Amino acid sequence: MKIELLVRRIPVGISQCAMGDPVRYNAGHKHSKVCTELLSRCFEFVPLCPEVAIGLGVPRDPIRLVKDDSSPDAAVRALGVVDESLDVTRPLRAYADQVAPRLQSVRGYILMQNSPSCGLAGVRRYLPNGHGIDSGGTGVFAQRLRELFPHLPMEEVGRLNNSEIRENFLTRVFAYDAWFRYVGEPVGPARVIEFFTAYKYLLLAHHQHKTRELGQLLANVGALEPNQLGLSVLGHIMDILSHPASRKDRTNALMHVQGHLKHYLNRSERAELTRLIDDYRQGLKPVSAVLTLLRHYLPRSPHQFIHSQLLLAAEPAELGLCDFH
Ligand code: SF4
Repeated sequence: MKIELLVRRIPVGISQCAMGDPVRYNAGHKHSKVCTELLSRCFEFVPLCPEVAIGLGVPRDPIRLVKDDSSPDAAVRALGVVDESLDVTRPLRAYADQVAPRLQSVRGYILMQNSPSCGLAGVRRYLPNGHGIDSGGTGVFAQRLRELFPHLPMEEVGRLNNSEIRENFLTRVFAYDAWFRYVGEPVGPARVIEFFTAYKYLLLAHHQHKTRELGQLLANVGALEPNQLGLSVLGHIMDILSHPASRKDRTNALMHVQGHLKHYLNRSERAELTRLIDDYRQGLKPVSAVLTLLRHYLPRSPHQFIHSQLLLAAEPAELGLCDFH
């Protein structure tokens, strides 16, 4: 199995104000150059503004998240700041349900932070008397999206300015997209195992322990109904990839590849590769230097297993998607 990344621009949903469209309550926008000038190279954006879509208009009075009381389980609603009788909780959730069929084809979603509709986490919440209580909320539209698409990679616009967070989001979107292209529906256990096998070393670079647990689950594929198996494995894979790849775990994964290739290298080539991986481990060389050398030696191996490894595919940094000033 050979999984090609970036065969086309990948459909990704985005809060419309991040595209520079003046749809905010004050008729402004929150243009993100990282999205429109960098990520647009590999993403085909699907911009949506839920507040405009439910008919609130531009400009409009702002809304905010209001918690019935301060207890942990209290209901949270999106209410008007000026007119508290305006409750748009249901319309925002219904809008997410309405666009869900269209969003079946998106492979990631970029949401505007701090918004009572789109914010993914950390949205300010208030009590009915107007006092702020915490910043523990999720926007109503974003919350419903999360319920409808539990494994869809999501990230906030502002966090994507950080190159490591951006790289992690790209990795998750690429994997989610590859899953639907290669495993698809109906889910077949053989395809699921092939997919896991191709991603194995990349997953190990993100979380060794959870990857081994997933390997054990897959040793028992017959115990699960195929679609249930597919959902479970996709969930595990997206969870593992959401952990940043640590230098230690990535070094370990690179050494696994080295182990496969060692029989096809002479003594000085083996020594050079070992030195380079150790330089990476110590932070003296970028991972791209190791990957380039591994790819150079790859054609010598006759084993399909190692040729299929996504760890060795062009990573976001090498595609020029991580540095942006
Ligand atoms: S944050 Fe969401 S609801 Fe608010 S303006 Fe942007 S797209 Fe519209």
